[in-house]
Amino acid sequence: MKYYNINNPDPKISFREAVTRGIASDKGLYMPERLPGMSSSFFRRLPQMSLPEIAFEVATEYTREEMAPRDLKKICDEAFSFPLVLKQTDGKKHVLELFHGPTAAFKDFGARFMAQCFRYFSDADNTKNVILVATSGDTGGAIASAFLGVSSCDVIILYPSGKVSSLQEQQLTTLGQNITAIEVRGTFDDCQRLVKEAFTGIDTKGQINLTSANSINIARLIPQSFYYYYAAGRCGNNTPVISIPSGNFGNLTGAVMAWRSGLKITRIIASTNINRVVPDYLMTGSFCPRESVQTIANAMDVGNPSNFDRLIGIFKGDHHAVTRMISGFWCTDEQIREHIRSVFSNTGYVLDPHGAVASMGLDTYMKDHPGATGIFLATAHPAKFNDVVSSCTGERINLPESLVPLTGRKKEAILMEPQYSQFEDYLRKRYDL
Ligand SMILES: *Cc1c(COP(=O)(O)O)cnc(C)c1O
Repeated sequence: MKYYNINNPDPKISFREAVTRGIASDKGLYMPERLPGMSSSFFRRLPQMSLPEIAFEVATEYTREEMAPRDLKKICDEAFSFPLVLKQTDGKKHVLELFHGPTAAFKDFGARFMAQCFRYFSDADNTKNVILVATSGDTGGAIASAFLGVSSCDVIILYPSGKVSSLQEQQLTTLGQNITAIEVRGTFDDCQRLVKEAFTGIDTKGQINLTSANSINIARLIPQSFYYYYAAGRCGNNTPVISIPSGNFGNLTGAVMAWRSGLKITRIIASTNINRVVPDYLMTGSFCPRESVQTIANAMDVGNPSNFDRLIGIFKGDHHAVTRMISGFWCTDEQIREHIRSVFSNTGYVLDPHGAVASMGLDTYMKDHPGATGIFLATAHPAKFNDVVSSCTGERINLPESLVPLTGRKKEAILMEPQYSQFEDYLRKRYDL
């Protein structure tokens, strides 16, 4: 399989190049040159397959020329070594819980697969990867946890001082080893600017490979299709409707990729909070990015979704074709709170604010299609949003085990002003550039 930059389709590059570059120099995103069709034998075996088994067979189609089966198998086993849970919540409604990984949010799927790909490629040729990540909270934690101990990669995480939760700060600053946290006296936008300037400002002379690990890396996108096979494969003869809580639309693009590869899905619901640019696009056909608005489902506070071009590209920009497969749904914070409350009192199930958005999107569809089999995605453990959740349900829930040991560890972070020259000095000294 070859990969291309969606701004500039030639020349095509390998999976390895697409992964290690992350983004093209003109800021274009990489996509596979075609979406592979999975075989009928694969779909026959699907209901019995585990997630690592599914991952291995699907990823083989994307990496065949570049990874030996044994190596790819190890990557998949290592990346997806935590549970994936599909549960019935109510009648024909199911939840796919994507929050049983080490940082209790769905970004673990993409981050861990990507980290294993980096390990594999850099072990093969002894390159040192220096991975710069600007984070407003969750992404940095998932990347840090995924790369911890991958010795060929240094991860440098920039986060805005005082603007992440204390749990998030612990996830970023207490791991040590190959993970360095830089606490920037500024905003998330400052962090992002420092990272961007480093890519254009520093000539690494080939001594290190400077790269980023943001959500647009193709090695984070591809694994976000694997769990759709798992879930739809377990619906028996029913073809599910799937509701996806969305921000940058990587998760939803993963679903569309699985569908295009032959997975039976009736409809995909693009569920958002008040940041509704994609539901509006589905309604009107015009895409109008805006400033994002802060909500209680804050991992979805995105006003200009980074995967939109990829998503629309799969449909060749045809709005009608998009709407034949994807419907939009959006809601307010007040509706999210009310939904968490009512689902808890009716079924006992505790939703986090992101999962609640998806659950509502699914309910709205199922009201009009009562025979449908529905799956909504729960992308974060509700304990990560205990303040909001407990104010709706009346009780706090315990943190998942993977997050507990963090409390009480020593914080280590380099405090920095939001001036690029300071950041560049730091990198030059550290890597002798
Ligand atoms: C990142 C994130 C989302 C949004 O996923 P996208 O792929 O950006 O659409 C939803 N929920 C949670 C908890 C997240 O961390």
